[in-house]
Amino acid sequence: MPTMSSLSVQRPGMPPRQASSSSFAEAFDVARSKLDMLGFHEPGEEEEVLPPVLSSSSSVTDDTSPCSSAEAESPLSPATPITAPITPAAGQDVADNFAFAFDIDGVLVRGGQPIPEAIEAMKVLNGENEWGVRVPYIFLTNGGGKFETERCQDLSKQLEIDVSPGQFICGHTPMREFADHYGTVLVIGGEGEKCRDVAESYGFKDVITPGDILRANAHTAPFRKLTEIEHNNARDLLARGGTLSDIVVEAVFVFADSRDWASDLQIILDIAQSKGGRLETRSETFDEGPPIYFSHGDVLWSAAHEHARLGMGALRKIVETVFEDTSGGRKLTTHAFGKPQVSTFEFATRLLQQWRATQHGLVESEPPATVYFVGDTPESDIRGTNAMNETTENEWYSILVKTGVYQAGTVPKYTPRKLVDTVLDAVHHGIRREMAKLGSRKETGGRMLPLDDVALKALGEGRTPDFALRADPFLDV
Ligand SMILES: [Mg+2]
Repeated sequence: MPTMSSLSVQRPGMPPRQASSSSFAEAFDVARSKLDMLGFHEPGEEEEVLPPVLSSSSSVTDDTSPCSSAEAESPLSPATPITAPITPAAGQDVADNFAFAFDIDGVLVRGGQPIPEAIEAMKVLNGENEWGVRVPYIFLTNGGGKFETERCQDLSKQLEIDVSPGQFICGHTPMREFADHYGTVLVIGGEGEKCRDVAESYGFKDVITPGDILRANAHTAPFRKLTEIEHNNARDLLARGGTLSDIVVEAVFVFADSRDWASDLQIILDIAQSKGGRLETRSETFDEGPPIYFSHGDVLWSAAHEHARLGMGALRKIVETVFEDTSGGRKLTTHAFGKPQVSTFEFATRLLQQWRATQHGLVESEPPATVYFVGDTPESDIRGTNAMNETTENEWYSILVKTGVYQAGTVPKYTPRKLVDTVLDAVHHGIRREMAKLGSRKETGGRMLPLDDVALKALGEGRTPDFALRADPFLDV
């Protein structure tokens, strides 16, 4: 894993730098005076130079997209003067100032297979870029149904990197904070007993599943027959002594997507319409049910099929609609974690701070000035990122990709700051935007920028460095 020293901006293949920041500053003064003599200027001094990519369409620019209007506000808008950077190299400043957060399905993975550009994008973040800079990143998915460690192992294989649980949040991760609040809970979704296991690992003390209820009373869902394996895995609720009506469910948690919507819908409704969560009872007022939590509210998600598939947000809507239809019009309010909830992004901020501190040696108390969030679903990824951006001092910058739920050519319900084709384009866009910031003396408050070793050496030898190739962060070389 990267260390603090490895964070220094370093071109691949170059020996580690030995110069201190102060010696860089001194070298900068010398080099700048030479540059002045050579006739180089920064914007704001005499002339403004626009990097080529900003004045024409490219892989990270989609002028025909419905998001073009957002471009007018982008710091990378052609209307915004950006310097032709001498070099963006700024030691640890570069990686310290920004980070990435990624949605997974439809961005990095689809149908269990990596999106090809995702592997390359991870390499770029891990230092294989023209600046040799490493950028911290985390993953924030609404998906779930497995232990975080298992999902990280899957992702590590898919993306050919080491993904740690310390940089990973899935839909049900925040539910662990409820473990001490409730006694008996009903957990829905996922394969086999997995979600029960996950809930118990979170500290929930008494976890029952729909399979337990069906085993105790097969009439609960007339068309659902447990397999022999399911029957054996289910816990015998009647072995506790007494009847089902002795059991009180204090909360319902939909951890992952239901594998049997019909019977799960029936059981959730039964509990929502019960007397205070007591099994096998029916409320007369339909306002006594326990709280119902979904790990997220996504109606659609990007799977292997060419069109987006229904997610647990659809089940949530069905639960609420059918409850109303069968309760004399009484409304049911359920709760959803995950994106686009701002609290989930706040959770992600805390994780990022910890991750940056433990893995990159950065100051934990300081969040990155900018977090680039890359997602494929406007209703959760973009909406949440934009909302987070409104509520925090640091910048949350939304980037929408075209490899998942969002369909190219349509108008997204929530407008991203940037629309790109793939996650690789998103990574390039964020890094180049940061380098452009560093290259602008205006944006850095007049702070001097160190010159690249190669440029310094060239100047020392009395010749003009090849700035067109060396110094232009927007040049794809
Ligand atoms: Mg997604």
